[in-house]
Amino acid sequence: MFDGLSSRLSSVFDKLTRRGALSEADVSEAMREIRIALLEADVALPVVKDFVAKVKERAIGQDVIKSVTPGQMVVKIVHDALVEMLGGDDQESALNLAVVPPAPILMVGLQGSGKTTTSGKIARLLTTRDRKKVLLASLDVYRPAAQHQLAVLGQQLGVDSLPIIAGQMPVDIARRAMDEGRKGGYDVVILDTAGRLHIDQELMAEVAAVRDVVTPSETLLVTDAMIGQDAVTLAREFNEKIGITGIVLTRIDGDARGGAALSMRAVTGRPIKLLGVGEKLDALESFHPDRIAGRILG
Ligand code: GDP
Repeated sequence: MFDGLSSRLSSVFDKLTRRGALSEADVSEAMREIRIALLEADVALPVVKDFVAKVKERAIGQDVIKSVTPGQMVVKIVHDALVEMLGGDDQESALNLAVVPPAPILMVGLQGSGKTTTSGKIARLLTTRDRKKVLLASLDVYRPAAQHQLAVLGQQLGVDSLPIIAGQMPVDIARRAMDEGRKGGYDVVILDTAGRLHIDQELMAEVAAVRDVVTPSETLLVTDAMIGQDAVTLAREFNEKIGITGIVLTRIDGDARGGAALSMRAVTGRPIKLLGVGEKLDALESFHPDRIAGRILG
């Protein structure tokens, strides 16, 4: 991801840094090229407009033109604006588990987005890195193998999963999971909800009902980076209807252009918290705005 954007920007900056002095026209030309590069990377148009306006204002305000190394100053301004666009500091992307235990993490999203895999990955992260006691529970009663799939994942990881009771409905499973979480002294209960192929009212109503029962400390939307701007639209919709606290972008190991990752925070007001970078259970990364900006700018 970001390869196309990264090489486009690096050629813009090469041109700028090779010159000793810059005119206002040079800066404007660079901004035009940055704008095109971002749009080609599939960043949402309003986000691109804001970004370019901000960078331009700063570049002119800070007397880049008169400085000794104007090109490098522009690179620095772009870097800082990218970090801001991605959500600023790392604090924002940390998982909030600061509630009376067990902390409920509600996983939501469309079918096939990587919800179940990500539930397993988060369980692994919390048990190995943070030494948390985690309970996994699948609320997906529609796909016959779903609950079993999560139980198998749990076994692979050595993480407990809620025993399956055939015929029990999602809200009741969620209640039982929280009871079990309290009784068993768990720190975290991860609730993997059912997804459908498209958003529908039924799905939203069910997720909202589960949310009301468990009061999640995190509601994470899991979405596939490969669907580009649709991921941003989806996040906005889930946020309006359910109220998400963060986003997990999966399949960033694929060749997505990266626009979704860059637009997410600005469009939804919610941070990306984690990145899925492969099928394996350790293929999960925390989201660091500064590192992503560094990756893009090389
Ligand atoms: P769910 O329907 O949302 O629960 O989706 P699953 O967790 O079953 O994942 C669907 C498919 O996507 C599986 O084959 C996963 O191995 C795969 N997958 C999940 N996350 C990632 C990721 O970050 N990268 C890649 N390459 N594949 C992923």
